[in-house]
Amino acid sequence: MSPDVRSDLDAIPAYIPGASVPGAVKLASNETTAGPLPSVATAIAEAAMGANRYPDITAGALVDRLADFLGVPAENVTAGCGSVALCQQLVQAVCAPGDEVIFGWRSFEAYPIIARIAHAVPVAIPNRGDGSLDLDAIAAAVTARTRLIFVCTPNNPTGPAVSRADLGKFLDRIPERVTVALDEAYYEYMRSDDPVNGVAEAMARPNVVSLRTFSKAYGLAGLRVGYLVGPVSLVVPVAKMVVPFSVSSLAQAAAIACLEAGDELRARTDAVVDERSRVRRSLLEMRHEVPDTQANFVWLPLGESATDFDSHCREHLVITRCFAGDGVRVSIGDPEENDQFLAAAREFVTRT
Ligand SMILES: *Cc1c(COP(=O)(O)O)cnc(C)c1O
Repeated sequence: MSPDVRSDLDAIPAYIPGASVPGAVKLASNETTAGPLPSVATAIAEAAMGANRYPDITAGALVDRLADFLGVPAENVTAGCGSVALCQQLVQAVCAPGDEVIFGWRSFEAYPIIARIAHAVPVAIPNRGDGSLDLDAIAAAVTARTRLIFVCTPNNPTGPAVSRADLGKFLDRIPERVTVALDEAYYEYMRSDDPVNGVAEAMARPNVVSLRTFSKAYGLAGLRVGYLVGPVSLVVPVAKMVVPFSVSSLAQAAAIACLEAGDELRARTDAVVDERSRVRRSLLEMRHEVPDTQANFVWLPLGESATDFDSHCREHLVITRCFAGDGVRVSIGDPEENDQFLAAAREFVTRT
């Protein structure tokens, strides 16, 4: 006999992380290629000397610094162990068992997992043909059981961002009892005409929160820290679901140092955006379909060829992220890494 565990474990998909292969270029996890800035590395090293002490349980200094940086009151901000932890806290805070969580699909692969973990029911709404979220279909899918909608913008893994005008029309259609989470993990990479600022939306509406992270543009994926901005009526319940002390003292110190190094990090982000245009243009010249991307990756909707393309890249020592039967996501690295990927892609085209 073994102990009783949940009977629905088989229904919870496993999170598949991007692979790491020694000696290969890793373009599988939307990380930044460069390590932390020297000022950030110093802050981490200093925090390490105090590792015998528990961290500040509320991450108060970081929350205050974020509030300043964003121009919002500190009571509207909470920090978490990566924004994925905040996604999970949010589902736990708003859903009772059997309640529905809606999201576009394909989108962030954690959504169906964390919905199930919280005994909620994931509802996946297919994207439009161009890889963008189908906001009309998402709004139409709201039922009496719906408690939460994730809007991932820019959308991982397909790339397009929702415009501010479209988001406004969408939010006007959603009942105020339903929470809308704007997952803005790639916010810093957006260069579109009418960009959404989730923090502004969250401060203006009673049922909207913005989720952002230090893992992507700020380059701290290994330290695990993100934040949520929203109305106090949601921030307090979300903070209540936190695993105590889950934002480490190293993560708190590093995040504060990142905010202080804003300009240097913005320059890095601009370089990624330039490379993103170059990579997408090259792929289009190879006659690949590539949706518009406002993030630090491109999406190749290869369908049944996705696995072949992914294996081909791996043979050329480039690790991409394959969603079998659907497509391949390729993170934007530094120019040499991107060249290595493009060379592999070019050969795939000529082979088929
Ligand atoms: C990477 C990512 C996150 C969060 O990452 P953390 O490392 O947990 O902060 C959240 N949402 C999307 C869509 C992402 O791609």
